[in-house]
Amino acid sequence: MARAELLAPPGPKYAGLERAAGQRIEAVGRRGKFLLLPLSGGDELVAHLGMTGVIAPEAEGAAPHKHLRVRLLLEGAAPNRLTFVDPRRFGRFLVVRRGDYAALPTLAALGPEPLDDAFTAERLLAALARSRMPVKAYLLSQRPVAGVGNIYADEALWRAGVHPLTPAAEVRPEQAALLRQAIREVLEASIAAQGTTLNDYRTVYGEQGDYVDQLAVYGKAGQACPRCGGPLERLVVGQRGTTYCPDCQPLPRARGARARRSRP
Ligand SMILES: [Zn+2]
Repeated sequence: MARAELLAPPGPKYAGLERAAGQRIEAVGRRGKFLLLPLSGGDELVAHLGMTGVIAPEAEGAAPHKHLRVRLLLEGAAPNRLTFVDPRRFGRFLVVRRGDYAALPTLAALGPEPLDDAFTAERLLAALARSRMPVKAYLLSQRPVAGVGNIYADEALWRAGVHPLTPAAEVRPEQAALLRQAIREVLEASIAAQGTTLNDYRTVYGEQGDYVDQLAVYGKAGQACPRCGGPLERLVVGQRGTTYCPDCQPLPRARGARARRSRP
C-alpha cells in the first residue's frame, strides 16, 4: 500500500500505522473478533471493530465520513481507498510485528476457534478448571474459546443447562461436553442465518441477520422458557445483562432446593 493515513488522534489504538507504507497485504485472516492482515515486510495489520467499527471502501472524491479514523491508500487495487470508520472509538486498527501481540493481551490469550477440531470437550474442561470466575464471564473473556459474545454465551449456557454464575472450575465434565456442543450448534445456526443483527447492524450485503428470530433466551426475561415453560430470569454477570432459566440451569448448590420448588 502507498500509506496509511491516521485521521484520529494518535494513540495505542492506532499504533505503528506509518510502518504499513510500502508493504503488501498478503492475506486476510481472523482470530476471534480480530481481523489479521499479514504484511509483506514481516508486520501485521490488526483490526478489531469494537462495537461500531466498519471497514469499507471509500469512493474517489466522496466527502470523508464524519467518524473516519484511518484511511489505507492501496496501490494496484480497485477500489484503492479503504477506510476504518468507528463512531464510538472502541475499535482498534494498528500495525505490530507479525505474531507479536504483547500490545493486544486479549488476542494473545485467545482460546481456540469454536468450530476448529482443536476445540474439544477435554480442552474446554481444562480451560474452565483454571478459573473461579462465573462461567459466563469466563466465556466472555475469550480465553477458553474464541468468539463467544454475550448473546451466544446466554444461548449456549441455556442449551447446556449450565447456570451462568457457576464457577468455571465447578463445571462438571459432562456439562463441559454439553457446553462445547451447544457453543458449536449456536454458532453454526447463527452463521447459517447470517448472524444476529440488533439495532442498525447489517451484513456486508446490507441485510439483517436472521438468527435473532431463533434466539431462545437472550433478551427474553419474563417470557416462558422454551424447554420447561417457566419464566426466564435476568441477572447481571460481569456487567453484562444475562438471561437464563432458573429451573433448567440450576446452580450446583441450589440443585435440591430448585427441585422441590413448586411453580405457580
Ligand atoms: Zn427452563
